Amino acid sequence: MKVDLHCHSNVSDGLLPPAEVSRRAADNGVELLALTDHDDVAGLAEARAAAEARGLRFLDGSEVSVSWRDDASFHIVGLGIDPANATLLAGLKSIRDGRDGRAHRIAGELEKCGIHDAYEGAARHAGKASIISRAHFARFLVERRISPDVKSVFDHYLAKGKPGYVPHEWASVEAALGWIAGAGGVAVLAHPLRYRVSRDELRVFLGAFKDLGGQGIEVACGAHSIEEVKECARMARHFGLKASVASDFHGPGESYADLGKAPPLPDDLVPIWHELI
Ligand code: AMP
Ligand code: MN
Ligand code: MN
Ligand code: MN
Repeated sequence: MKVDLHCHSNVSDGLLPPAEVSRRAADNGVELLALTDHDDVAGLAEARAAAEARGLRFLDGSEVSVSWRDDASFHIVGLGIDPANATLLAGLKSIRDGRDGRAHRIAGELEKCGIHDAYEGAARHAGKASIISRAHFARFLVERRISPDVKSVFDHYLAKGKPGYVPHEWASVEAALGWIAGAGGVAVLAHPLRYRVSRDELRVFLGAFKDLGGQGIEVACGAHSIEEVKECARMARHFGLKASVASDFHGPGESYADLGKAPPLPDDLVPIWHELI
């Protein structure tokens, strides 16, 4: 079965409306899809309807931003969540509520680099302040021809340690795992090798994540090389975590992988979706 359990619509920092994400997934041969917008569930009903109209199975998801220890942040994908769960909705809203102030702080740092009006520019790309993300700033800087593409904006301005980066307090890992479990979902660590932490710190995090009820890890990840997929498979086996498949698609031409185009999953791993469908 062709599976893709991590992608974004324009409800967060993707480029396509939710229904178009589902239709594109269908065109690419995906049979089981989860939409996982950052800190939001507002696109799920539209995406589900379009997916089911094309005969796809659909899982409700969200990618939750969490902070850990001294300014580390991780992304935890909740899958099979009830998108009407009040505690989950309040938790995700609390994260979104922090995004606008952070965006003003990012714009203040970019101003010091001589980049003016970045808040307004990013907000225009985001559509609404509550989901404004670094991806929207990146699109604005590309539009202004300050960098040639989104990736180089991150490399020069927005990644941790770069001049436009600001620390931010997201949800705690405990809170995010509690919301996901309370809404009937399972928690999966997103793109394990795309965080600015050492391998030792990643392993400590994974131990804590598992102890707190985390159940899965993205192994076949669009943002990972074949070697990195193997490394994630070793972590899945070591920590007893189930494996997920994730394009992390954001839009045509902008993402590592298109919908349904994640690398293959090593076949000894336990797929996270087996108990969800
Ligand atoms: P935020 O949630 O505001 O911290 O923004 C994070 C988002 O920025 C991620 O979900 C990606 O969509 C995007 N992003 C992060 N790092 C990179 C990168 N190195 N290249 C391209 N996009 C990135
Ligand atoms: Mn994103
Ligand atoms: Mn992510
Ligand atoms: Mn993502």
